Amino acid sequence: MFEHSRLNLAWWFSLSMGSILLVFSGILYAWEAKDRLHFFDQGLYSTSQIIASGVEEIIFGSQRRIDLEDSPLLGDDTIKLDANILFARWYTPEKKLLQFMGDVPDPTLNSELGFQTIQGPESAPTELLRQLTLPVYRDDRLLGYLQVAVSLDPVIIPLQQLRIFLGIGLPVTLAAIAGTGWFLGGKAMSPIRSAYQRLQQFTADASHELRAPLAAIISNAQLGLMEPTSPIEQTNCLKNISSVGESMSTLVGHLLFLARHQGNFLSEVFQPTDVISILTAIESNYASYLAAQNLQFECILPNGSVIVQGEPELLRQAIVNLLDNACRYTPAGGMVRLKCQVFPRWVAIQVEDSGIGIPVADLPYIFERFYRVDRERSRQAGGFGLGLAIAHQIIELHGGQIEVSSQLQQGSQFEIWLSRTADSRY
Ligand code: ADP
Repeated sequence: MFEHSRLNLAWWFSLSMGSILLVFSGILYAWEAKDRLHFFDQGLYSTSQIIASGVEEIIFGSQRRIDLEDSPLLGDDTIKLDANILFARWYTPEKKLLQFMGDVPDPTLNSELGFQTIQGPESAPTELLRQLTLPVYRDDRLLGYLQVAVSLDPVIIPLQQLRIFLGIGLPVTLAAIAGTGWFLGGKAMSPIRSAYQRLQQFTADASHELRAPLAAIISNAQLGLMEPTSPIEQTNCLKNISSVGESMSTLVGHLLFLARHQGNFLSEVFQPTDVISILTAIESNYASYLAAQNLQFECILPNGSVIVQGEPELLRQAIVNLLDNACRYTPAGGMVRLKCQVFPRWVAIQVEDSGIGIPVADLPYIFERFYRVDRERSRQAGGFGLGLAIAHQIIELHGGQIEVSSQLQQGSQFEIWLSRTADSRY
């Protein structure tokens, strides 16, 4: 699926970039051809003007006021012609041939005035020539017509070279574009691919987690339905079903929470929230619970209030998740500490315990969904491996950070950092 999409992306990228390149090259070539021909024509026109004035000089410089018609034939030595000129022809005002240089022309002028591209002489029929036919005036009097032709090679050869360059360069560039498209397609698909893989993993993990309690429910129900069953056994089965059902409900609640608050969260629900009052409420709730667990509980909170922009219930949930873990993974007789430190721009909430700790190798993964350091032990402790993922997601939504440090058999420290100043994003 991903390879197909990548191929599609690469194809459309190559097609669009290739089309742009082809159109651009076409325009460039046409522009270059037009430009070269224009300058070439200008040169030909200037040369023709010089030839025309030279002829006038010969005729009028001698003070012989004669028409071209009456003039003697001009010899090749009379006018020094440009070396590139293939032929030059003079015609009378009546368009009759008067003089010529080069190939023998028709006796009368039958081509149109102006520039024309014509086939070369019989000696080189494949050659293209540029021909200019222009009338020559003196004191508003038509003296005759001058026709000059030069080889078009100075225009054709560079254009041929440009065509060769484009012919080789374009396929190479198109291949490079296709390669780039494939590479970019891969880059673009990479986050989608990993998101898809994460989703697949999440679905697989969630299904796996739900399968075990479902199996327990089914087996307890089957056991309760078996004949003959004592009422006590039936009650036990129902109790088991009820407890597994509750745990499933918690798991589904967690999954729903993660799905609902994934990615974006409506910033309108954020409000100025006093962190200290949240922590004070948590302290009073947990004090007796921790005492019952035979855990020493320390709570170090500053006086007054510390305001952050956030959603109180979500923040409470994140802190409670950390505190629950501290209780769960600290053996009886241990210590759990809840602390709040205030900095000019930040507030740090620490949940510390003297419990079993987390191996260094597991630390980078513990905020991932369904990640458990010791699956069996965690399951026994009633964990799904979602508590830290939820806490992490909540703190990220609040633009904060959650950090962990731990030492095996020494304890763990989780630290939540929240911005005190109202962030412009909220
Ligand atoms: P669970 O619900 O399984 O506790 P969490 O996401 O809350 O899932 O935690 C992930 C894993 O990180 C746990 O399975 C546990 O192994 C480890 N862990 C979390 N907090 C602590 C802690 N305070 N002390 C030791 N291990 C912890």
